[in-house]
Amino acid sequence: MIRKKLAAIPALMMAAAVSTQTAALAITPTAQSFNEYCEAELSEGRKLLSQLESIQAPYTTQNLLQPMNAFQVHVADASSQSSVYLAVHPNAKVRKAAGECDIKLGKLFNEFSLSRPIYNALQQVDLSKAPVDTRRFVELTLRDFQRSGVDKSDAVRQQIKTLREDISRVGQQFATNIREDVRTIKLDSASQLKGLPTDYIAAHKPDAEGKITLTTAYPDYQPFMRYAESDALRKAYFLEFSNRGYPQNREVLMELAQKRFELARLLDYKNYAEFVTADKMIGSAGNARDFIEKVSGFARAPMEQDKQEFLNRLTQEQPHADKVYRWQKPYLHDQIQKERFRLDSQEVRQYFAYNKVKGGILDLTQQLFGVTIKKWDTPVWHNSVEAYEIYDGKQLVGRFYLDMFPREGKYQHARLSPIQVGVKDQQVPVATLITNFPSGENLMGHNQVETYLHEFGHLLHYMFSGNHRWAALSGLSTEWDFVEAPSQMLEEWVWDLETLQKFATNSEGKPIPASLVARMKKARSFARGFDTMQQLYYGSLSLNLYDRSPKGLNIDQLANNMQSRYSPYPLVEDSHFYAGFGHLYGYSAIYYTYQWSLAIASDMFTRFKAEGLNNKDVARDYREKVLAPGGSKPAAELVEDFLGRPYNFKAYEEVLTGKG
Ligand SMILES: [Zn+2]
Repeated sequence: MIRKKLAAIPALMMAAAVSTQTAALAITPTAQSFNEYCEAELSEGRKLLSQLESIQAPYTTQNLLQPMNAFQVHVADASSQSSVYLAVHPNAKVRKAAGECDIKLGKLFNEFSLSRPIYNALQQVDLSKAPVDTRRFVELTLRDFQRSGVDKSDAVRQQIKTLREDISRVGQQFATNIREDVRTIKLDSASQLKGLPTDYIAAHKPDAEGKITLTTAYPDYQPFMRYAESDALRKAYFLEFSNRGYPQNREVLMELAQKRFELARLLDYKNYAEFVTADKMIGSAGNARDFIEKVSGFARAPMEQDKQEFLNRLTQEQPHADKVYRWQKPYLHDQIQKERFRLDSQEVRQYFAYNKVKGGILDLTQQLFGVTIKKWDTPVWHNSVEAYEIYDGKQLVGRFYLDMFPREGKYQHARLSPIQVGVKDQQVPVATLITNFPSGENLMGHNQVETYLHEFGHLLHYMFSGNHRWAALSGLSTEWDFVEAPSQMLEEWVWDLETLQKFATNSEGKPIPASLVARMKKARSFARGFDTMQQLYYGSLSLNLYDRSPKGLNIDQLANNMQSRYSPYPLVEDSHFYAGFGHLYGYSAIYYTYQWSLAIASDMFTRFKAEGLNNKDVARDYREKVLAPGGSKPAAELVEDFLGRPYNFKAYEEVLTGKG
């Protein structure tokens, strides 16, 4: 996952050669010093904005585009930093201040995106002799101005502004309700942990009363669902997990959908889904709907087979079972892996101590892309956070932080968060990974290793694309539904024997055996249809919440309908998955993007598959043609430049139907 900035805002705005006296943000501010920082950023931003609005014709690159770039860099960076602190700062008061600051910066950006004087000026810039990147920058910025409603009447613009502010506020409330709703179950004794790995049991000792408390945070929840033998306890735990954010988010979500619908209508779109897909690769809500149907055409038959296999396995333990529920699948999946593929995920885990995985991923990056990664000596916001620099020869490419372990109050998933946008000859890109992995010599599941490399893929994309003079073309400014593709493609490397044997060794130093990797790869394709259909359920829920007027919409009913149509799981009374489904704010209607970009990733991977995963020439070509351009070209062209032909869904169909 990545964090896209300020939703309706042109991806990550930036560029700029004008020096602005940015107030430096202390790495461990108090709430008060954070507020001072925020006020300074806002006031500098307001100054830049009013200067922009008073520029006189004739408009040029120097007098208009560069100051505009400077404004965009300024607001984007301050907003990125607020967003990082909101997600990870150890001090709850700073997190709160950061959330408030992000909203104020969003307001400032909205003022920019609704500014008539700037829009009018931008239309008059003479581009006849401008280089292609400048033209692209202006074209995208004009498009985004129009998408923000700049050409509407004063009254409508005022309504739009208010709606956008409401949407951030309500959306943040939705996210906060999920984050803060950490639920627990209590076990009566260690015997109820039967089936779990010994390190998990050791980390969950009974308290003075002999009870063991498990929270709904992933490091507690996921292993339990996979390994715990007790079906009843998994069910009870699942019911807690699937009610995070409920009931408060039921109303919050409908308010969010209503505000977004009103916004889309004011912008002359039929609904929010039409609005939000219009500037994506997919182009329209109808295409998104068709795509979901197309993929379900590939995945449905394999899903039925998988379902039967899960049920067969379940009836060995529960002879009368006729359905497989959500809390049973990870456990059954693990059992089938053990029995049919002779794959014990705990046997696999011994090769993936966190420190080795980290080293392996840094080495892979260095070898494949010919760069050097060094420790960066700089203050960090928590003593578990590390900092690094990436060099290409002597050239500093970018800097990043690794904030990888869970702690109280921290964002609970995995994502890349930008901190500073890259601007050619001005500032290098800076970003942080935020994850919740086991630390040090503790063992990771192979799926966590895959997540690590996935998020690292976003980081590399952000670093390698951070050298445009127009910040709006830097970083992850490509179409949003392409953003996941490079990361999803990179996941393939954690299934590659040669790559794995370089870092995956057990405590005795023995590398992961080839026969084990072969079994892992066989097991990997099992249940792919099943899991894909569940993803299509999420995608259709997200699309259908936003492709209509939410007035009178019953969200529970909609979720149930979509689940019945796509998900392999039966409905469970008293579970309210949507209330804890954070993407319904962050991704709104476009959760389909994960499947879409997976289809594109599968297609791009065909070239590495044919020419070699460690082929440095292909990797260089990929870095230059797909990653480095950022948003300077439409994603479809980047893929075509790399593959030598337009993208298609053939490789993805083969992956899903098992022919790949
Ligand atoms: Zn991602």
